[in-house]
Amino acid sequence: MKFSINTINSLLKLKGVGPKVAEKLLRLDIHNQEDLLFHLPLRYQDRSHIYPIGSLRAGMECQITGEVQLSEIKYGRQRMLLCRLSDGTGFITLRFFHFSNAQKNQLKRGAKLLCYGEVRRGKVGFEMAHPEYQFINENEEIVLDENLSPIYPTTEGVHQLTLRNVMSQVIAKLKNNELSLPSLIPAELLKKHHWPTVKEALLYIHNPPVDTQLEDISDGKHPAQQSLIVEELLAHHLSLRQLRVAMQKENAPALVKKTNLINQFLSALPFKLTGAQEKVVQDINFDLENNYPMQRLVQGDVGSGKTVVAALAMLKAIESGYQAAIMAPTELLAEQHFQNFKSWLEPLGINVVWLSGKLKVAAKRDAIEKIGSSKGQVVVGTHALFQEGVEFFKLGLIVVDEQHRFGVHQRLALREKGNKQDGHPHQLIMTATPIPRTLAMTAYADLDCSVIDELPPGRIPVETVVIPESKRDAIVQRVEQACSEGRQIYWVCTLIEESETLQAQAAEDTANKLAEALTNVRVALVHGRMKAEQKEKVMSEFKAGEVDLLVATTVIEVGVDVPNASLMIIENAERLGLAQLHQLRGRVGRGSQESACVLMYHGTLSDTARERLAVMRETNDGFEIARKDLELRGPGEVLGTKQTGMMQMRIADLQRDQELIPQVAEMADQLFQHYPDFIEPLLNRWIGRATKYAAV
Ligand code: ADP
Ligand code: MG
Repeated sequence: MKFSINTINSLLKLKGVGPKVAEKLLRLDIHNQEDLLFHLPLRYQDRSHIYPIGSLRAGMECQITGEVQLSEIKYGRQRMLLCRLSDGTGFITLRFFHFSNAQKNQLKRGAKLLCYGEVRRGKVGFEMAHPEYQFINENEEIVLDENLSPIYPTTEGVHQLTLRNVMSQVIAKLKNNELSLPSLIPAELLKKHHWPTVKEALLYIHNPPVDTQLEDISDGKHPAQQSLIVEELLAHHLSLRQLRVAMQKENAPALVKKTNLINQFLSALPFKLTGAQEKVVQDINFDLENNYPMQRLVQGDVGSGKTVVAALAMLKAIESGYQAAIMAPTELLAEQHFQNFKSWLEPLGINVVWLSGKLKVAAKRDAIEKIGSSKGQVVVGTHALFQEGVEFFKLGLIVVDEQHRFGVHQRLALREKGNKQDGHPHQLIMTATPIPRTLAMTAYADLDCSVIDELPPGRIPVETVVIPESKRDAIVQRVEQACSEGRQIYWVCTLIEESETLQAQAAEDTANKLAEALTNVRVALVHGRMKAEQKEKVMSEFKAGEVDLLVATTVIEVGVDVPNASLMIIENAERLGLAQLHQLRGRVGRGSQESACVLMYHGTLSDTARERLAVMRETNDGFEIARKDLELRGPGEVLGTKQTGMMQMRIADLQRDQELIPQVAEMADQLFQHYPDFIEPLLNRWIGRATKYAAV
């Protein structure tokens, strides 16, 4: 974090803030007085009342007053100070485990106290452990807070009382207009939604009236809260929209309407496109004819047929005289795409080039040369496609397949690729990990989204069971039975370790044991440590039905397509996340026969693991699973933004506040059209220093 004297100066003007405290406040991302105002309470205390001790009940958090009647140190397992406080209506014991001599001397018989704490039931009547307290004089009138008192998130070295004191100074300044803080939602819109201005909202949230429904604040439902949430969501939304606008000012080749190749390709396909595929293809075609780059995300559940959609887009690029590239996240999937595209496109006279990081030097040089000339029309590969030294001849379209976690930063990096001469290439991003529409509206506001919301006809949901490892023998028998019926099976070995070597080892052991136990079954093995040709050989044997049981690591997680496989066993399923389980399971249930998936688990299940496995048992719907995944992990993990600090919000919560997102999107439109002057200040207030996406 950058240390800037200028901004800190405004903090130093506050009483109680010296250079030390100011530096510590930086840790809370507080750089100036305005930041303090947006440092909102975690919770509140009600110090507006004094409760008669006789009226207390266990569990209450409240303020009481009284006189110390008895004060003694007790020596037990732990030394403690006990004070009996009475107000005439009853008595309560104050219990201190840590106390100084001075404290002991002051908390003596006859001392009058004002205390705040939680009431608990003790051995003899009620108690408060370590209450906050202050001494009061006989005739002094006790000044009660008019409103609820805020408790702020603190950091080491900044005490709650210090912070509260500092906060009350800036709040007073805001109240007296010494500090001006304009609402960055146009007044007209505030009025329409009955939201308070940002000033009103902050004053309310820092010190809400005593009768406030606190649940409304914690649920984000209070209008004061909502107006702040909307500002923040709006800022994030706008910053991504700005990116999109900037991209639309760039050039891209406008692809032509010719359909010769496309028609040939379609008539050779053994099936008809689903309505959903048709619709998405239309969206894409429309974009590709523009002279600025397409930025489209296609979400389609596992098995919904995204590859064909990609192929159609790529054909359009080729028909217009451009190259098209498709990038897959794993070698195995890239390899499959390569085989697939070769068999689809070579009959049409199209050259398909393969590029992966693992190619031998000569082969790689050859591939790179083709990519740099008119010889490489379609290029299939892994991220090696975008490594240094790879220059495309005339790239018109990039397809990124199976992009699960797709943070803004990755999208930005991709945008920089491609041929600058003809402008940027069009971009098509495909994902089988859908996120709910409202969330996508903000998280992917820089992209256009299409959804393939229909599976090819005849698919039967995969029946899923959850079985403990102790029943392994029964599972092995079931595998044998299935093989004798001519079914093909995946046996997936998973390890928590990222190490490919250990994973490979585990899979190898399992394959040996299974081959030993199942003498009539043709067992093969595939893992990440194998040579590309070896993997390819095994996969094509499996595809051709020459292998019955394929033991694999999670290399087969994405994209692998062998429609005849109808049973999958997943070992250590409890260790995998929902998205990964759904992906894996998506390898079966691709044909027309009934498929099953066995989730095998080890030991006792944690609560969340049990919940995940139950979700898998109950549904095959990728959107439903994604919703659950969000619930269990939160948007930061699901979107892959948590690690990078992107889309970190101060007040808004993408999940809790989903309902507001459609309004935010609409508001963003209005700001672009009618209030462009609001945009920059909004970004500065909410995103400013945290992350300027545009600058990445
Ligand atoms: P994913 O969306 O998971 O990438 P794929 O593109 O691998 O799905 O397609 C899954 C399977 O469905 C493939 O075998 C593919 O040939 C087949 N398929 C795709 N579209 C259709 C369709 N419209 N009708 C029938 N089968 C289809
Ligand atoms: Mg796919």
